[in-house]
Amino acid sequence: MEVGGGAGAPLETLEAQRGTAPPRTGDGARRGDKAVAEVYEARIQQPRLKTDAFALSPFVLDGKAVSQVTLARVADRARSLAVAPGLAVVLVGADPASQVYVGAKGKAAKQCGFHSLQYDLPETTGEAELLSLVGKLNADRAIHGILVQLPLPKAVPSGRVLEAIAPHKDVDGFNPINVGLAATGEFGRALIPCTPAGAMILIDKACEALELELDGLEAVVVGRSNIVGKPMAQLLLSRNCTVTIAHSRTRDLPAVARRADVLVAAVGRPEMVRGDWIKPGAIVIDVGVNRVAGQGLDASGKPKTRLVGDVAYAEAAHAGAITPVPGGVGPMTIAMLMANTLIAAQRAQGIEHLEL
Ligand code: NDP
Repeated sequence: MEVGGGAGAPLETLEAQRGTAPPRTGDGARRGDKAVAEVYEARIQQPRLKTDAFALSPFVLDGKAVSQVTLARVADRARSLAVAPGLAVVLVGADPASQVYVGAKGKAAKQCGFHSLQYDLPETTGEAELLSLVGKLNADRAIHGILVQLPLPKAVPSGRVLEAIAPHKDVDGFNPINVGLAATGEFGRALIPCTPAGAMILIDKACEALELELDGLEAVVVGRSNIVGKPMAQLLLSRNCTVTIAHSRTRDLPAVARRADVLVAAVGRPEMVRGDWIKPGAIVIDVGVNRVAGQGLDASGKPKTRLVGDVAYAEAAHAGAITPVPGGVGPMTIAMLMANTLIAAQRAQGIEHLEL
C-alpha cells in the first residue's frame, strides 16, 4: 500500500481543520472536478509497480506521521507565545484504556512545551468534588485547556461536568456552547471536537493524494455519537459534502455505505464495515478502536490481543484511501487536542488567527 502524509505533506491551515477552508481555485480545482469513479479508473490503468500490476491498493493515510508534523508546528507556535499554553487533564477512576489515553495526552503536551497538569481522582469522586475542581481550573489563568476524560463513573453525570467547563477552555469541544457554535457554522469562535477535526485533516490529505475536490462529494458517517459522529457530519457538511448519518436503526446499511465517496466509520464494532460496503475509490476513515483476541500468548502467558478498527481493512484494497488502525485517526485526535489548547491560549492572549 502506498503510504502518505509525512513531513513533506503540504501545510494545512486551521481553517481546513475547522471546516472553513476556502474553495480551491485554478488547476487544483479543475483536477478536483473529477468524479471519484474517474479517479479510480485512472489508477487502475496506471499500476505504480510492476509487482503491483494486478493489485490496486489504497493510499494509506498515515495519521502517525501527519500528527507528528502537526505537533511540531504546535510546539513551534507555542514557543512564540508570551505565556505557554496550559492543559489540565482530569482522570476519574482507573479504567486502563483511559489511563493510556491520558498518558499519551500528557506526553504530547510536554512534547509541545505546554504547561501540563494531570489530576488522578479516585473512582469514588463525587459530582460536587469534580465540579469544584473544574471551577478551580476555570479560574486558573495558567490553564487554557481543560479535559475531563470520558467515560466518567456512572454516579457522575458527564453532561453537567462538561457544561461546567468554561467554553473557552473546553478543548474537547463537548460543551453545548461549542457544539452550538459549530452547528451554526461559527468555527472561528468554537473549539471543535478533536477526533472529527483530526479525521478532517486526513480527508483533506486523501483529497490531495487522489486529486479530488471534497466539495459536493457524497459522505456517509456511520455512528451518531455527540463526540464523533455528529460533529464529523457537521464538518463534512460545512465543506459542502452531501452528508448521510447512519446508525443502528439504519435500514440496509451496506447499501447506504456503498453510496459514500467519503465513508467514516465510528461505531465501535470490530470490522463491521466489510469490503463490499465500500465504493471503489472511496476515502475510508476508520475511527473505531476495538480490542480483539490475537494469536498465541504474550510474555506473561496471557492470551494476546490486537487492535482493529470498524472496517475490515484487508477487504478494502479497492478503496481510494484508508486510515489504518492503529496509526490513523487515533494519533490525530491527540494532535488536535494540542492544537485546540494552542488556539485557546492564543485567544486568551488576543491572537485570533492561526496557521499551522
Ligand atoms: P458510541 O458508542 O457513542 O456510538 C456508536 C454509534 O454507532 C452509535 O451512534 C450507534 O447507533 C452506532 N452503531 C452501533 N451499532 C451499530 C450497527 N450495528 N450499525 C450501525 N450503527 C451502529 O461510540 P463513539 O462514537 O464514542 O466511538 C465509536 C468508535 O470510535 C469506538 O470504537 C471508539 O473506541 C472509537 N473512538 C476512537 C477515537 C480515536 O481517537 N481514534 C476517539 C473516540 C472514539 P445508535 O445511536 O443508534 O445506538
